Amino acid sequence: MHDIIIKNAEYIVTMAGEPIRDGAMAVTNGQITYIGKTEAAPQNANRVINAHHCVVTPGFINTHHHLYQNLTRAVAPNDYLFGWLKTLYPIWGQFTPDDFRHAVAFGMAQLALSGCTMTSDHHYIFPNGAGLQDDIDGAKMIGTRLLATYGSMSIGESKGGLPPDNAVLPEDKILELSEHYINRLHNPNPGAMVQIGLAPCSPFSVSQQLMKDSAQLARQHGVRLHTHLAENAEDIAYSEATFGCRPGQYAEQCGWLGPDVWHAHCVQLNPAEIKLFAKTHTGVAHCPCSNMRLGSGIAPIRAMVNAGVPVGLGVDGSASNDNANMIEEMRMAMLLQRVQGGAGAFSVMDSLQLATTGGARVLGRADLGSLEVGKRADFNIFNGRSWQYSGAFDLVSALLLCGVNNPESVFCEGRQIVGDYQLLTADMHQIHAMHQLSAKKIRERVGL
Ligand code: ZN
Repeated sequence: MHDIIIKNAEYIVTMAGEPIRDGAMAVTNGQITYIGKTEAAPQNANRVINAHHCVVTPGFINTHHHLYQNLTRAVAPNDYLFGWLKTLYPIWGQFTPDDFRHAVAFGMAQLALSGCTMTSDHHYIFPNGAGLQDDIDGAKMIGTRLLATYGSMSIGESKGGLPPDNAVLPEDKILELSEHYINRLHNPNPGAMVQIGLAPCSPFSVSQQLMKDSAQLARQHGVRLHTHLAENAEDIAYSEATFGCRPGQYAEQCGWLGPDVWHAHCVQLNPAEIKLFAKTHTGVAHCPCSNMRLGSGIAPIRAMVNAGVPVGLGVDGSASNDNANMIEEMRMAMLLQRVQGGAGAFSVMDSLQLATTGGARVLGRADLGSLEVGKRADFNIFNGRSWQYSGAFDLVSALLLCGVNNPESVFCEGRQIVGDYQLLTADMHQIHAMHQLSAKKIRERVGL
């Protein structure tokens, strides 16, 4: 007896071959046990879902986010990266552990509604007693997967860094906490709901020694490494002035290249750096909305994918997006590559690939990203009968071409998270109310 059988789907987009027409899928104990044509599908299940006129896709994987930032949306709306950061750091410094929990629950819910079943979170500021456990608590409420990366900043303004001095920690304390979180919270097994990674915030907020020590510690424990790299022209100028080299070379000097590393943005990587990333299988989190919002440029994603660089998609923090919707991000990734490369430069399937198999590769999750027997049952059902797709000839292309439309149902580990476009695992009204309350208190604390 299977737990769930989905049958009669117009298409199942497996991302492991051509989409299956009139497709079916069976799920048992959180794992996919059948995928193929409806006519050959097993019959017995506790629940049968008729997906007539629907498209089934893998759950989407978000490879870059700062969930806490959704409490500071629409701040510094016309600034470049460095000016934007300097406005926001003092506000983030006023957050409490409750604020972080409310932000994470809200952000995970927001992502789940757009079909995201796994997100990474880059949390790098811990004021007023906050810790990485606050992320985990918020995520557990929603029921989707989290790779929580322990971020860090050690070089404050007085030492030439960008963050204010009260937002940074001594480096020995950062390393001690890194090890503490790995030992306490990381699950290395297939199907894991919570994993930990190490993520010094950026080359301009920690020392070279901390970059090297973090890499060594991560490899000792088999966890992944993440940071921001080559985001815009200011970032390149800082690297050349401070380290005397480009960001790709700096990453190499620090031991930050390899299949266990992924860098956010990489908008300004040059052809030699792209080659270096491809050779070392170093991953990239592409964040098109954030790159456009901050005027950072167009990341050379077509060239990266062609060269063999593992590329995933990221919504980035909600202070620089200022939304968090995986469909919107896929649509923007596709359109943005076409601005430079022409209409044939990036297809719907190319974008779907970034958000599924690309994301799984970047986050080191061989058990996720595609719909195949033996993989975890993370998937979305898009209802082709809804008015948003009316008139569409091809329902798979319509997922990204016909606007930003969320899935009707979302499942993670075989458990239904979203049904009829609503969150089922937690009370969205309550999550929203707590989020609004935190936002109000933060504005009061900073006198706005
Ligand atoms: Zn970021």
